[in-house]
Amino acid sequence: MILVTGGAGFIGSNFVLDWLQQSDEPVITLDALTYAGNVHNLDSLREDPRHTFVHGDICDRALIDRLLATHRPRAIVHFAAESHVDRSIHGPGAFIRTNVEGTFTLLEAARAHWQALPADEKAAFRFHHVSTDEVYGSLSADAPAFTETHPYEPNSPYSASKAASDHLVRAWFHTYGLPVLTTNCSNNYGPYHFPEKLIPLMIVNALAGKPLPVYGDGLNVRDWLYVTDHCSAIRAVLARGRVGETYNVGGWNEMPNIEIVRTVCALLDELKPDPAGPYSRLITFVKDRPGHDRRYAIDARKIERELGWRPAETFATGIRKTVQWYLDHPEWVAQVQSGAYRDWIAAQYQPA
Ligand code: NAD
Repeated sequence: MILVTGGAGFIGSNFVLDWLQQSDEPVITLDALTYAGNVHNLDSLREDPRHTFVHGDICDRALIDRLLATHRPRAIVHFAAESHVDRSIHGPGAFIRTNVEGTFTLLEAARAHWQALPADEKAAFRFHHVSTDEVYGSLSADAPAFTETHPYEPNSPYSASKAASDHLVRAWFHTYGLPVLTTNCSNNYGPYHFPEKLIPLMIVNALAGKPLPVYGDGLNVRDWLYVTDHCSAIRAVLARGRVGETYNVGGWNEMPNIEIVRTVCALLDELKPDPAGPYSRLITFVKDRPGHDRRYAIDARKIERELGWRPAETFATGIRKTVQWYLDHPEWVAQVQSGAYRDWIAAQYQPA
């Protein structure tokens, strides 16, 4: 049994679905179902006895204690977070609460639980913290990619809150010996991605004939990884990673934002041509985001060398699958855009 926090979000739901495809080990998903959490992502597991969904907050210590005592998971995989940089600029408080206080609460609960375990379970227990490459700050065009020893230089409230959580996780290992693992991953894309983020926003807006807003000159560079490759990296680290270590996860896929947007437009031109003309006609440059990091690039050699992990998708194959998924799931997009999934949640799930 593993406990997954934030398992109704984009990466968390992909992870839970992928986990239960790869193994029969049960999963308990804990998610507060914020605007970004969509329990519909886990609809295919509703009758699956291997999966339990709990609607609750990682800041709720009594709830976490109860879940750990009842289910005795051998690992916690911690995805739950406020994750959108733009939202963090306009309202940083929620980021400090969930990303910093929430991680602290989980660590404390995990520590108490772990300390009381019998020796064999204690040795096997893991706390896996899922983090981002944004904690490292911004790179100049010709600087080498981020390694695990790159200094932390977060520039947004989001990345600062994730950096703080990474430091807490590190300290709980060095101070208390809690067996932690941390992964810092580059930008993910794929199914179930909330359409406030670049790739799904472009797909959804293009299909609706709306402008495709690109920040600044569109030349900000990100490294992109297909979401199930991130999931396989987490599985590898959880299974074989060295306790107390951090592993960078990335796709060796650096691309300027404008190129991403043009690729999405070209795929849509091919898969769902618009009689009004090529989708690229909708590209609109908008005022840059404050503190917008210029470039992120991940050096993933440590996880490749130590754990033999490699991404299965290239950007070309992953982005095609992603665009096709959005074309095949208009009802998911409509629910997310209307917020209808939230009313449904309120009716289905009560706090545990
Ligand atoms: P997301 O916003 O899609 O999902 C976050 C989930 O956490 C949601 O289901 C939300 O309901 C839940 N949540 C929020 N606050 C909570 C709370 N207080 N208690 C319980 N649940 C809560 O985010 P994502 O893109 O899936 O990212 C997941 C994790 O991966 C985050 O920790 C993020 O920092 C990290 N990460 C994301 C990316 C990326 O490209 N999206 C890259 C690297 C790392």
